[in-house]
Amino acid sequence: MTEVLFPENIGEAVSLLADHEDARPISGGATLVAMRNAGLVEVSHLVSLDRIAGLSGIEVLDDGHIRIGALTKHAETAACAALTGSLEVLRMAAGKIANRVVRNMGTIGGSVANADPAADYLPALACCDAVLTIVGPDGARDVDILDYVTDWYETALEEGEIITAFTLPAPEPVASSYRKIARVTGDFATASCAMSLDADGRGIRAAIGACGPGPLRDHAAEAALRGHLGDPAAVSAFAKQLAEMADPVEDVRGSSEYRLSLIPRLITSVLDDLMKETV
Ligand SMILES: Cc1cc2nc3c(=O)[nH]c(=O)nc-3n(C[C@H](O)[C@H](O)[C@H](O)COP(=O)(O)OP(=O)(O)OC[C@H]3O[C@@H](n4cnc5c(N)ncnc54)[C@H](O)[C@@H]3O)c2cc1C
Repeated sequence: MTEVLFPENIGEAVSLLADHEDARPISGGATLVAMRNAGLVEVSHLVSLDRIAGLSGIEVLDDGHIRIGALTKHAETAACAALTGSLEVLRMAAGKIANRVVRNMGTIGGSVANADPAADYLPALACCDAVLTIVGPDGARDVDILDYVTDWYETALEEGEIITAFTLPAPEPVASSYRKIARVTGDFATASCAMSLDADGRGIRAAIGACGPGPLRDHAAEAALRGHLGDPAAVSAFAKQLAEMADPVEDVRGSSEYRLSLIPRLITSVLDDLMKETV
């Protein structure tokens, strides 16, 4: 029988995770409850993050950075008016997760902790240069989103640690977008692309999802593309660089060849749309 514990603060939650073997934090429960009911995970204690003040909600900090609490539901992120310009990509990604029921239940911290390679947040957070705050027995630390996923379903999150927040740079007044290719509306992505234009419109930030264990982003390839956004050969070379980083699986959502073929199509179509928006 699984016991559910309700700590009032993050320190208490960390202690409870340390005190009980096979204890896990639970946020929305959208994934964990289904996995437990299917016998895919053994859990002795569920440490609910629900009553911990300050873990939920989206805040504009004094320096303009945006802080998203880990317990913020997908629906709240999808509706957040502060996520504009370069950060609109994150709002769009949240709005494309599953269906209304899951969006009202699941949280950004739970999704990123779960690290499904096809999760919509991962490429969007990578495109936004997000930093995660993680709290554990040794205190708090910050992890760059691009260093977070270390292998298939493996992350920088150590046992007993809790994601508490995501910090994003202040939004820039530029176009950004998230596109997801899925078998049907509401399914996980077969492949996805998050992109925003640089402040001067001469370059892009772009991340591909669902084509490897974590989001694919290549700063050197982005630097090489700067000033050549209107050159199809340069865009094609950029897409090729990202495809070379990919390690796509073959599953019910598509073959690895199909996923690879989607990378240049996604890059070209999202870039075209962003360029049209800025004309
Ligand atoms: C039918 C269905 C369809 C879905 N479709 C999509 C989709 O299209 N795109 C998409 O991106 N996602 C999709 N999801 C996943 C969804 O986004 C979940 O909400 C998310 O993966 C988990 O969030 P949660 O808050 O419910 O986490 P939980 O289920 O509570 O936890 C998930 C895991 O994360 C751990 N955890 C939770 N919170 C934290 C934390 N703060 N720190 C550390 N560890 C934590 C838990 O211990 C558990 O291992 C779908 C889920 C369902 C059920």
